[in-house]
Amino acid sequence: MSRHYLSLLLGLYLGTSTLVAQPTATTNAPTRTLLHCGTLFAGTGNDLQREMTIVVEGNKIAAVQRGYATPTSQDRVIDLKNKTVLPGLIDMHVHMETETRRGGASDRFTQNVPDMAFQAAKYAKTTLMAGFTTVRDLGGTGINVALRNAINRGITDGPRILTVGKSIATTGGHADPTNGFRRDLMGDPGPMDGVINGPDEARKAVRQRYKEGADLIKITATGGVLSNAKDGQGPQFNDEELKAIVETAKDYGYAVAAHAHGAEGIKRAIRAGVQTIEHGTYMDDEAIALFKKYGTYFVPTIIAGKTVADSARMFGYYPALVTPKALAIGPKIQATFAKAYKAGVNIAFGTDAGVYVHGYNAKEFEYMVEAGMPPVEAIRTALMTNAKLLGMDTQIGSIEAGKFADIIAVDENPIQNIKTLQSVRFVMKDGKQYK
Ligand SMILES: [Zn+2]
Repeated sequence: MSRHYLSLLLGLYLGTSTLVAQPTATTNAPTRTLLHCGTLFAGTGNDLQREMTIVVEGNKIAAVQRGYATPTSQDRVIDLKNKTVLPGLIDMHVHMETETRRGGASDRFTQNVPDMAFQAAKYAKTTLMAGFTTVRDLGGTGINVALRNAINRGITDGPRILTVGKSIATTGGHADPTNGFRRDLMGDPGPMDGVINGPDEARKAVRQRYKEGADLIKITATGGVLSNAKDGQGPQFNDEELKAIVETAKDYGYAVAAHAHGAEGIKRAIRAGVQTIEHGTYMDDEAIALFKKYGTYFVPTIIAGKTVADSARMFGYYPALVTPKALAIGPKIQATFAKAYKAGVNIAFGTDAGVYVHGYNAKEFEYMVEAGMPPVEAIRTALMTNAKLLGMDTQIGSIEAGKFADIIAVDENPIQNIKTLQSVRFVMKDGKQYK
């Protein structure tokens, strides 16, 4: 019934948008936009270029030229002469449906689907305004699929979303949606709800995500911090189940992202062939060697670790089972990142937005730099590295002719002051200016 209500709601939105969209098609909008960029970090290398023009036509970058190009009478000019211009940022780990707050664990008993849908739309807009023009949503109830579609249709503002829909867990595992419920509410969720036991159910859960419109697959390979369960790091899938998931995912062209804190779960997931390990908190030397052998990417989410540790120190913020896990695991992630970076593990950019308040994604850059990564490298993880992992490197991740016009601007040179990325002044996505 709640699902039906949501489709009604979205139906109404769609109707409104059609009415509004029609007149704009007949206006004589300028066909080209010239962005005069004082400093440009195009993301193709480590260089900054001075006095450049980006020519935007429709939703694409038509050209990148030296000097400030002279506009024709039809052209629109955006003056970014005192700014540093960069490609739109990409975050590999967000949760668009939810946001942390004290006592928020009870939301799943009190919120209806439409409540979450409105919230998700707000968080998506906040994320876009923070300069993140593409994100990977690593799990919610499935509202994230509708959100992605609504953004793509221009119904609501937000980043491009690639979503897993629902995470896949084992019974009682980190993403079992009935974790911590009382027995009669717990039921026995199965592949439809993202809970599997054994390879057959694992395959079914992947196929179910495909049917629901997911773009990739997420598994919770070990326990986690915020589930109402005791264990925060033990392995929760066996090798057979992991193999069934990764193989089935391949049939649909899906990458697999694995949430994992403990070393054993990290190793099993890497050996099974997942694309990314999220968090990676307790990776040991053997795990690091496996990352390198398999070319697996590490998505650190340092900001999420720091946030859960800080929140756990506030009385009553989390349920009793969660607090000790947050205090133990949270503060370790930055040191893990430092170790992995030094060891030469492939690193992608991801933050676990929603576990902290949406819109602060760029704080992660500061933590990466603090842990020893040079600023230019940190910035590039959120550009071409992520674009390649998403299979979108010909479309996003750099400012080059032919790519989507996903462009942001900040006040200072981020290579000298990484914190400037936390105050994004200009946002264009798909050729449309949002900020
Ligand atoms: Zn997450």
